[in-house]
Amino acid sequence: MISVEEALERILAEIRPLNVIQVPLSESLGLVLAQDIVAQEDMPPFANSAMDGFALLSRDSQPRAGQPPRVRVTGGVAAGYVADHAVEEGTAMRIMTGAPVPPGADTVIQVELTRSAGPGSEWVEILEAVKPGNNIRPAGEDIRRGQTVLLRGSEIGPWEIGVLATLGWSTVPVVRRPHVAIISTGDEVVDVGESLQPGKIRNSNGYLLEAAVRQAGAEAHRLGVAQDTVESLREKFSEAMQDDLIITSGGVSVGDFDLVKDIMAEQGEINFWRINMRPGKPVAFGHIGSVPLLGLPGNPVSAAVTFELFARPVIRKMLGHTRLLRPQIDVVVEDGVSDRAMRRHYVRARVEWRDGHFVAHTTGNQGSHIMTSLLNANALVIVPEGGVEVHPGDTAKAVMLDWPEV
Ligand code: AMP
Ligand code: MG
Repeated sequence: MISVEEALERILAEIRPLNVIQVPLSESLGLVLAQDIVAQEDMPPFANSAMDGFALLSRDSQPRAGQPPRVRVTGGVAAGYVADHAVEEGTAMRIMTGAPVPPGADTVIQVELTRSAGPGSEWVEILEAVKPGNNIRPAGEDIRRGQTVLLRGSEIGPWEIGVLATLGWSTVPVVRRPHVAIISTGDEVVDVGESLQPGKIRNSNGYLLEAAVRQAGAEAHRLGVAQDTVESLREKFSEAMQDDLIITSGGVSVGDFDLVKDIMAEQGEINFWRINMRPGKPVAFGHIGSVPLLGLPGNPVSAAVTFELFARPVIRKMLGHTRLLRPQIDVVVEDGVSDRAMRRHYVRARVEWRDGHFVAHTTGNQGSHIMTSLLNANALVIVPEGGVEVHPGDTAKAVMLDWPEV
């Protein structure tokens, strides 16, 4: 049996980021940028007004004999247009926010600091002296042509999409999403729509894992349930060979019908198949042909927890992310953990910030078949291996499942 750390290391050593493709900008959310983005233009592309007001020469705004100067208004320029003449000494042009500053003008005064005869006024009085550059947003103030604005490896979020849009990237080079095959195993497992005959249970893992795969940023390819026969498993695996990763649930422990390992040995290789943890000791990792396979345990909680700890980082690495693991923080375990852990125990818990620290409450019965213990959980409290006890009020580490990876 190997440790969680060794398992993770051995798994990630076998995983590479996938190839780069071009996707439409609006489909790039959550993907990883595959090249540095260098601006081909200044942003803003032209000097423009930050206010609605008047463009003029700053020296014309100086008071004359203690009186506000009055200048002639020669026209206007709206956002989206350019002035058809220049501003000359003793004149001004009406200007709207975002409109290009007309040639000749070196300043803009906001409308609130002026007086005129109304919207079409042929004159304006300047009530305050303004300096050159006032209310003018210079070309290139935000981004200079030639500047590297985004680095390869960045995750694309809404703000990155805004910057890419402003620079004209209608398609974006990204690492493509992995396609992940999901195979449930077990003669007892039937699909959700079916009625439960004696001895049968519904395929919760297939749907849980499909959702978790999607949430991690991959395309899920749910292949249904393989019977506990070599033939049935072979058939499902041959279907899964076109995917980038295969995730199975069940069939990897030491029972008579735990055949996933056998097929791995037959059609590929087994790297390891047991981890010193609970829930989820029987986790197998290896390859079928050249496709990596993570064999997760059948118990739904074990499948869910081992997905978070091992499969999610794999998918993120394939997606080109460099931050692969959820953060771990110190928490006060208010209710303690009732049993000693010989294997490392990941205890489902709700962590909240209260009175200056993070406090964890475990979510009740920690049996690996108790699915409802996942419902309120946002963290896994770690009870170290070797028989450590966690009493009420003790501090422990917790993996934060709803915090972004670090
Ligand atoms: P196994 O690892 O195949 O021995 O399965 C361990 C436990 O998980 C058994 O109680 C199975 O019935 C249950 N189980 C296996 N696959 C699923 C599944 N897809 N959905 C829900 N429970 C499952
Ligand atoms: Mg089984």
